[in-house]
Amino acid sequence: METLPSSNWHQLHPSEILDRFETELESGLDHASVESRRERFGPNAITQRKGQGPLIRFLLEFHQPLVYILLAAGLITAVLQEWVDSGVIFAVVLMNAIIGFVQESKALKAIDALTRVMTSEATVLREGVKRRLSAQELVPGDIVFLQSGDKVPADLRLLVCRELQTDESTLTGESVPIEKHAEPMDQDTIVADRRNMAYSSTLVTYGTAVGVVVSTGDRTEIGRISELISSAEVLATPLTRKIAHFSGIMLYVILAMAVATFVVGVIRGERALDMFMAAVALAVGAIPEGLPAAVTITLAIGVGKMARRNAIIRKLPAVETLGSTTVICSDKTGTLTQNQMTVREVLSGGQRYHITGVGYAPEGEILCEGQPVDVREHQLLVECLTAGMLCNDSTLVKTMGDWHAEGDPTEVALIVSARKAGLSPKQVKQERPELDSIPFESQHQYMATLHDAGSDGSRIAYLKGSVESILQRCDRIHGGEANDIAFDPGVIHRHVEEMAADGLRVLAFARCELPSGAESIDHNDVAHGLSFVGLQGMIDPPRPEAVQAVQACQAAGIQVKMITGDHAGTAAAVAASIGLSGPESSRSAEGVMTGRMIAELSDTELHDAVETTAVFARVAPEQKLRLVRALQHRHHVVAMTGDGVNDAPALRRADIGVAMGVTGTEVAKEAADMVLTDDNFSSIEAAIEEGRGVFDNLVKFIIWTMPTSIAEGLVIMLAIFAGTMLPILPVQALWINMTTAVLLGLMLAFEPKEPGIMNRPSRDPAKPLLDRALVVRILIVSAILVMGSFGLLAWELAQDETEAAARTVVVNVIVFGEIFYLFNCRSLTLSMFSVGLFSNRWLLVGTGLMIALQLAFTYVPAMNRMFDSAPIGQDKWLLILGVGVLIYSVVGFEKWLRRMYATRNNGTG
Ligand code: ADP
Ligand code: MG
Repeated sequence: METLPSSNWHQLHPSEILDRFETELESGLDHASVESRRERFGPNAITQRKGQGPLIRFLLEFHQPLVYILLAAGLITAVLQEWVDSGVIFAVVLMNAIIGFVQESKALKAIDALTRVMTSEATVLREGVKRRLSAQELVPGDIVFLQSGDKVPADLRLLVCRELQTDESTLTGESVPIEKHAEPMDQDTIVADRRNMAYSSTLVTYGTAVGVVVSTGDRTEIGRISELISSAEVLATPLTRKIAHFSGIMLYVILAMAVATFVVGVIRGERALDMFMAAVALAVGAIPEGLPAAVTITLAIGVGKMARRNAIIRKLPAVETLGSTTVICSDKTGTLTQNQMTVREVLSGGQRYHITGVGYAPEGEILCEGQPVDVREHQLLVECLTAGMLCNDSTLVKTMGDWHAEGDPTEVALIVSARKAGLSPKQVKQERPELDSIPFESQHQYMATLHDAGSDGSRIAYLKGSVESILQRCDRIHGGEANDIAFDPGVIHRHVEEMAADGLRVLAFARCELPSGAESIDHNDVAHGLSFVGLQGMIDPPRPEAVQAVQACQAAGIQVKMITGDHAGTAAAVAASIGLSGPESSRSAEGVMTGRMIAELSDTELHDAVETTAVFARVAPEQKLRLVRALQHRHHVVAMTGDGVNDAPALRRADIGVAMGVTGTEVAKEAADMVLTDDNFSSIEAAIEEGRGVFDNLVKFIIWTMPTSIAEGLVIMLAIFAGTMLPILPVQALWINMTTAVLLGLMLAFEPKEPGIMNRPSRDPAKPLLDRALVVRILIVSAILVMGSFGLLAWELAQDETEAAARTVVVNVIVFGEIFYLFNCRSLTLSMFSVGLFSNRWLLVGTGLMIALQLAFTYVPAMNRMFDSAPIGQDKWLLILGVGVLIYSVVGFEKWLRRMYATRNNGTG
């Protein structure tokens, strides 16, 4: 195989291209050439060009306003030859950067790994066999099949095109779909206009095609420009931005306080150097150094927990939004149900048949009025089952004694039902080979196949699809005249209603003869004049875990709505079986709103209807977007599931777009914020639960860290204003902030979810992060810390202790105050005993280490020299712990009061 200049592929004829790549359209490459090409070209993956190298990321840790202050303070103290202070400040800044760097790298890596879990697949022809491979394995010359919903896996020259349209916005930024064809084009056509090429990473929005891989990996068009795509997502969310904004404001407040302290002190006649050190201590103490890291880590831990519960976060802001979800709009098939279809009922030739057996094993009987039937005497039944087998893209496979579905379970169920009647797929397909097909798309609601029906060139088309879409094309019943059966849509609809009321998913079948010699089929060929062949009704049992998850959501004040393309009756029955709607409205199709009804409503009418309706049936994918809009108009935070190409706009518009990992198309996944690896509704509920937990933990960290900052700032400012000695030195403030943030505060990120986290209403995203109650709590704790510090400082000095010993007591007051308060913060409302004293072991470990460090700070001579601390008498500890106990009790009492108040309010309504 020779290498080609890339500019040439679009001008060649398909056969020339195949020659150049030494490959065949009918059979693809053989294993030997795949091997040799893989060695030569490597895997089909784009080398990750790192967005930011580790060094840059490390340096960026210093690029924070709060750190600037510290660096300035460190420099100036160095100039003033306060070596110890300067050294400690620099050491702390460095440590802070290292911790931040390590933790952010971990978070990035975790998120990066998650995005890579979702490698895309491609349908490839090799040695005459079509199969799904990871897109990474493609080599130049591979024959690839595209269909709507796929992501193009490599740069392809198209060989056969059937109405193919692609969205090339990843490449060109232009999102209008481009129509493709397979004809050769002029040499000087520019890349964006090469209609006979499909480029890697673009999305197929319509139609199907076959193409040959012309370039892979970094040699693709997207590979060439991929420097623009950084490897990992940026760790920024609305919340981190809010917090960044908040720290910006805090910076000015702190600077103002520091300047005021300096000026007031100097006016009072203190030494400028001392006042400068005081201002530095204030700034250092009041800056919550641990905050940015805590936010990142809490989010990253949340992402990890969600992944373990089968919800992969694609866009980080979703982690926060999830906690505020008020409505989940879910698909039915596969999400609320198991997608394990088994045909139970068949209608053909005016007869109803019942089929026994469960699952995909083709073992069961066909009964008519309770009696087993001899299938040979029921030709119309055979025709109906044959139609199901022929108009089919899926296969039933047996591996190690187990039967399972490859493809669409709805279709596999049809193969199983036909096999139960003794039909053999091989034989049926040999007798009527498939020539062409129109694949199923939910917007058309049917699928059609064209078959060669004999050596004379006669042609038969089979259709299967929703009852509505099939019946409107039929004007007679197959075998009607011979068997004297009239075509009566009313009767057929009655059968459908009956089956649907039992929760059966009903498919209708039809056939027609096409002009002999026809080689292809399109929508016009089967628009009318068809013969109705029959119905097959299949069960799809609800997922037991979905039933529980729906309950949990309802308890959490989250509405669950089912949005399905299926029949209204089926939707109603399934909704009732999973407890989605009240029994009276849902047993019948009346509580259900159909796509047709939605289309008739004005936007205002729809705004009301979306509140009161739980089940939407026969919804066209485009209508999902309208539903999302209507719900958002009602100020709902909407999670919407989707799997198809046409779901993408609704997924993008929803606050949380949820794509199906197993059955979803690449297009849907690309548009989604979150992907479910198991397609299971209960994973959405799990993610919401984790989302609420993440939010709680963030709030817990913030309300825990704020009082220390406030207290340290105030203690120093008030001391200077009052003209007393500095209660804590800059190095001591740094010591407190760094050790407690890491050993105490970060441990809150490991706090398990609170009991009853799903028994409270969703958080309103418009509300501020901290409500009034929490702000009051912060102020109370700050006040106790300030009073405790001053009180014990005064007491110490009155006892003629040294300044160093007095400061050591103050540092211990603040640290132990934080330790006690930390236990208050383990739950926002409950006492630590109800969340379980040992339920967060990390927190206990951190507390233990913190106490050890504090003892070292107080008693180890080296530490005394470095931090200007001094040993204190044992009796002092009683006073220090006293302040801690006071904080714990006051906050505990405050929480208890609020709990009482809340239950009283709930009790009286
Ligand atoms: P949902 O996934 O919500 O159950 P779909 O959009 O997949 O709905 O299907 C809508 C309707 O289209 C189904 O009720 C069925 O009648 C029909 N249908 C589904 N799958 C196929 C298929 N593979 N071939 C033909 N018709 C289908
Ligand atoms: Mg479906």
